[in-house]
Formats: sequence, structure tokens, C-alpha cells
Amino acid sequence: RAVFAALKSELPVTTDGHRVTVMVNAGLRDDVAALDMTGADGIGLFRTEFQFLVSATLPARERQQRLYREVLDAAGDRPVIFRTVDIGGDKALPYLTQEDAEEENPAMGWRALRLALERDGLMKVQARALLEAAAGRTLNVMFPMVSEPWEYEEARALFETQREWFVQRGRKLPNEINYGAMLEVPALAEQLDILLPKLDFLSIGTNDLTQFLFAADRANPKLAERYDWLSPAILRFLARLVAPTSEAGVPLGVCGEMGGRPLEAMALIGLGIDRLSITPAAVGPIKAMVRSLDRAALMAHMKTLLAAPPRDMRGALTAWAAESGV
Ligand code: PEP
Ligand code: MG
Repeated sequence: RAVFAALKSELPVTTDGHRVTVMVNAGLRDDVAALDMTGADGIGLFRTEFQFLVSATLPARERQQRLYREVLDAAGDRPVIFRTVDIGGDKALPYLTQEDAEEENPAMGWRALRLALERDGLMKVQARALLEAAAGRTLNVMFPMVSEPWEYEEARALFETQREWFVQRGRKLPNEINYGAMLEVPALAEQLDILLPKLDFLSIGTNDLTQFLFAADRANPKLAERYDWLSPAILRFLARLVAPTSEAGVPLGVCGEMGGRPLEAMALIGLGIDRLSITPAAVGPIKAMVRSLDRAALMAHMKTLLAAPPRDMRGALTAWAAESGV
């Protein structure tokens, strides 16, 4: 609790006056208490599959809706981004996928949006539950594992069809609906220009993105060295997303674990990514880092580092942080 409460009422503002948005990742009803404990700006990733994973049977619409409403009630004015179910693959549900043979590469398998677009009954129920829960408020929906723009468009159209269904019945609707995609499959970056005009926000899932970019299983300890978030390849990849999203006026954030580590979060801010959604215990340390950071100086330094990356990027960033009093 002491860790959670550190800097609770201090804002994450850099020494040169730039406000960073620090939100938390959550998945169960009880996680929402972390918002008040940490003073975070909202929930940047609510992993809705957790409710499915802890249930013996498919959670009915009423149960889903109740959870979403409780989360929104607890968040009050602070935004909540609900991610539609990221199940399948290694998060297999016995009541959903039993007829399918075991997959050799579950992380790259039939999961998340790939599954949800085929089993669209599941997402229709989830869409109705979210629309009902957010009646009279803002609903933020995010789709996981988008690899191609059409997948996002189909998922969004499915939600819009459910919204129409509510309109026809004269039911109360959310005041506003924002749709976003996760960028965690590298292929999506190659078609980002096509997707951006249709997006209300974009959130980078650095856990999956890194394993796919390096072809290195995020769960294999033998590959941990090859999975450094501060590798030039990752940082250059992320850097290229910043200008086009900003020109399109689309808010860009990171919701992977990378953002919860002070040095990594510093590097993200240095790239121009200033919306982080992180594990609650990291909010205090990240705020402390942000409050000691000269963002403009860091951005200039990052540019130099990325133009001619040192072999030990982590070492170089650590040294800069130490010299600059971060
Ligand atoms: C990610 O991949 O970075 C992410 C936030 O999603 P998850 O960890 O739930 O796969
Ligand atoms: Mg992911």
C-alpha cells in the first residue's frame, strides 16, 4: 500500500512542464481500487478476458455488464479502456475452444480478434454488455492483436451494428464511443496510414510486439537477453510510429510492461510517447522518474542515440539518466 500511495497526489509533469499521462492496467473488479490508491489518470487497459478465464462457463451478458458497470462506477470521471477478449492460444478456454487441436505456436495462433471475428456471437454479447454498462457515459473500446486494417474495421462495424440495435429499441446509449486498436503485431505498422483515419486512439502492446519483432518467445527465460525493450530495433520501430499518429491527431500510448520500468518509460517519453498504462505498483516510481526528467533534453539525446545506436543502449541510457539526475 505504501508503494501504491507513493506520490499519489503529485502529477507526472516533467521539469520542462510536459504532462505525461499515467494510467493503470487492470483485469478484475478488485484491481480498480488501484486507481484511488495510486492517483493514476485512468485505466489504460482493462483486460476483459480475466473474467472469462476465472469462470467455469462463458460469462453471461448480465455478468459481463455488471463487471463493466462496477469498473466505470469506480473510475468516475477517469477514462477506462476496455479491451475486448484476448483469449485463445495459451489463454485457452475449455468451454470455447475444445474442438480445436492444440496449437504448436499458441501466441501466434487462433487468438484474440482472430477468434472473436470468427466466433462473432461472443463479441456481440460483449459489445452489448459494454454498451449497456456505459449508457450515459463514454465508452472506450480497444481491439487486441489487430494485424490488418480490415480486422479493426470489422470489429468496429460489429459494435456499431449492436449500437444500431439499441437505437432501434430506444435504449439508452453511451454519450460517446471511442474505438482503438492495439499495435502488437508488427505487420500492422506497415499499414498504419490506412488505419489511422479510422482510429480514435492507438495503444502499443510492447509485450507481444517485442516477441514478434524479435521472433523470441516472451515466456522463454533462455531468450530473455534477446528480449530487451531498450534494443535499438524496438526503439527505432516505436520511434517511427510517433510522427504519423501525431499528424493524424490520434493519441498514442503504450500499455505493455515496458512502460512500467523507469528506464524503459524514460526512453518512451524520449521518443515522444507520453501516455503510459502500467502495473499499479509502478505508478509511484514512474511518476518520480517523470518529475525529475527534462523531456526536451532527453528527446534530443534519443535522436542522437537512435541515429547511431551504441551496442549497449541500456548502458547509454543509464549513463544519461545518472548524469542528468533522473
Ligand atoms: C501486450 O502484449 O503488450 C499487452 C499489453 O497485452 P497482453 O500482455 O495482455 O498480451
Ligand atoms: Mg498482447
